[in-house]
Amino acid sequence: MAQLLHLEGIDSVVLEDRSREYVEQRIRAGVLEQGTVDLLNEIGVGERLRREGLVHDGIELQFAGKRHRIDFPSLTGGRRITVYGQQEVVKDLITARLETSRPLHFEVSDVEVNGFESESPVVRFRREREDVELRCDFIAGCDGFHGVCRDSIPAGVLRAFEREYPFAWLGILAAAPPSNEELIYAYHEHGFALHSMRSPTITRLYLQVRPDEELAEWPDERIWNELELRLGLEGWTLNTGEVLEKGVTGMRSFVVEPMQCGRLFLAGDAAHIVPATGAKGLNLAVADVRLLASGIAAWYRNGDVSLLERYSSDALRRVWRAEHFSWFMTSMLHRLEGGDEFDVKLQLAQLAYVCSSEKAAASLAENYVGLEHV
Ligand SMILES: Cc1cc2nc3c(=O)[nH]c(=O)nc-3n(C[C@H](O)[C@H](O)[C@H](O)COP(=O)(O)OP(=O)(O)OC[C@H]3O[C@@H](n4cnc5c(N)ncnc54)[C@H](O)[C@@H]3O)c2cc1C
Repeated sequence: MAQLLHLEGIDSVVLEDRSREYVEQRIRAGVLEQGTVDLLNEIGVGERLRREGLVHDGIELQFAGKRHRIDFPSLTGGRRITVYGQQEVVKDLITARLETSRPLHFEVSDVEVNGFESESPVVRFRREREDVELRCDFIAGCDGFHGVCRDSIPAGVLRAFEREYPFAWLGILAAAPPSNEELIYAYHEHGFALHSMRSPTITRLYLQVRPDEELAEWPDERIWNELELRLGLEGWTLNTGEVLEKGVTGMRSFVVEPMQCGRLFLAGDAAHIVPATGAKGLNLAVADVRLLASGIAAWYRNGDVSLLERYSSDALRRVWRAEHFSWFMTSMLHRLEGGDEFDVKLQLAQLAYVCSSEKAAASLAENYVGLEHV
């Protein structure tokens, strides 16, 4: 957001309550849509991404003991995804920001946003033991699901739509070369498993577990055994290695409407969450700020408010499409708690359809690589 504004000659102050080291190491998403990659290149932060990002032409879906490939370029008119860790994107953006010499403050605390229903919003925060008050034209609430911006909006303005899924993902990062060139989404009677990667030497792997799963119940050996079982195929070997990171992430869908209150605009996880199965969270955050930055730029250029007035409805069209796709992938690939054999047959029928009909495969592919126009 700050880089987009900077390129339009607009000043901004970026506040982050964590340290630089923390945000540069925080492991999260890793699948970048074509549109996200294009934007990062356009704003001049794509040099390392072009060098180190792993361009993927497809994914594999595995069920009933077989793998089926979904080929992106042939189904989407040449579009692809790039695997590049979110923390690497964060590092590149921080470097670019520091080069502009515009303000970026880490480890601020007590952030409060006020006055955004007037023409001069105020942000208060504490930095290096000093209280700071900042007056501005707009506040971009890009502070994630647990940030302060959404909750600062008066009751009754926002409407929340929510779904909790009865399972979570146990994710590991391992010092092992990927065992497959592309991501593998596996449907198995023990539950979903995902084989992903972050680099030619680092694998990212996930297992469907209960939402209240204790990590202590999962020593490394049990994780590897279960991954081997769910992802295994005859003639294929799962590479193992030191487990560098381990965590359990809940699966939830969440949207607030509208994504705005006066001059406070919500973007990214502050306004919406998707289950990770569709790999959309980071990509949606990027799509939001692209829209918001062009609205703010039009306002400064000639006082044109039309894009800002449309920000929420324009952003929500893409958000709901991604919410549906993420729900679709999640429902198709996870064993449903309390589900019966009928559910299993439906899921297998859907998987077989996606892998045998070119039109169904094209629908999955165009959503996965990111729709150009929503
Ligand atoms: C464990 C995990 C795994 C994930 N895996 C995937 C995946 O595989 N694929 C995918 O697409 N998505 C994934 N996601 C989702 C994706 O990471 C998010 O959708 C994305 O980070 C959203 O970006 P954001 O900028 O909106 O929010 P964030 O990345 O959360 O950024 C918000 C920032 O605001 C800061 N902040 C919070 N409160 C304050 C405050 N009061 N004052 C100042 N700063 C504040 C936070 O420290 C943070 O740096 C995952 C998320 C998690 C948690």
